[in-house]
Amino acid sequence: NVKGGTDMLKKIKRKGKGKGEVGGGSFQSMGLHPSLLRAVTIQGYRTPTPIQRATIPSLLASPPKDLVGMARTGSGKTLAYMIPLLQRLGRRHSHAFGARAIVLVPARELALQVLKVGKSLVKGWRGDSGHHVGDNHEDDHATSVGQGEALRWGLVVGGEGMDEQFEMISNNPDVIIATPGRLLHLIVEMNLSLAAAQYVVFDEADRLFELGFSTALTEILARMPASRQTLLFSATLPKSLVEFAKAGLRNPKLVRLDAES
Ligand code: ADP
Ligand code: MG
Repeated sequence: NVKGGTDMLKKIKRKGKGKGEVGGGSFQSMGLHPSLLRAVTIQGYRTPTPIQRATIPSLLASPPKDLVGMARTGSGKTLAYMIPLLQRLGRRHSHAFGARAIVLVPARELALQVLKVGKSLVKGWRGDSGHHVGDNHEDDHATSVGQGEALRWGLVVGGEGMDEQFEMISNNPDVIIATPGRLLHLIVEMNLSLAAAQYVVFDEADRLFELGFSTALTEILARMPASRQTLLFSATLPKSLVEFAKAGLRNPKLVRLDAES
């Protein structure tokens, strides 16, 4: 049957064309706020990497689900959790008390990198109405973007003076990017509450464990609400990490991209 064969060919062609464009695996198909999508593309991210394709849509699904994402270094894990973080929190500061998202990383340099990625996306994120309200340049966490004040970021890492850290925390950041030792210190010494945390990320979890942060991480987790969404990203999944994930994450989806990622 010739007609049947042609139809089949059409279907295959259509499938091929959709790849990386509309359907399937594009940033456009993920249901992002139009202005967040624009910010992503302004930054030059045209198509999601495999780990982003495999994680972003499921992180945005409701109800929120925990996730363990395993993919090699350089595969794009930062955006895999930063885009859903921003989609969930929005671009504005919330006057409600407490950080809504916490990102834990093993080292100060990495915290700075993650902060840069997050801030650059918010900077490109203009009013939802397409109504452009002035450019926001150098100003850091207190920049206004459109109406309302932009998301505030808190960096809680070793090497910063305690006075600066205190000020940062008093500023009621929406997102805290932290190394575990310093975060735990602020929890204990400054009564920092993590009770508002809805979205918690352990980035480079294998390194967090290699550096001996496992006790600090367990203590930190115990101070967060059970209703949070918890994500763990790592290049490898040693046994200790699997145990930690079992204790700290609820029935997580496992996304594992080995060589091809
Ligand atoms: P990982 O955390 O997995 O090691 P990163 O998140 O640091 O990887 O990303 C590695 C590099 O890839 C960065 O320079 C980042 O800007 C770039 N990158 C990430 N996602 C994309 C994308 N979708 N398109 C183009 N470049 C990307
Ligand atoms: Mg990374």
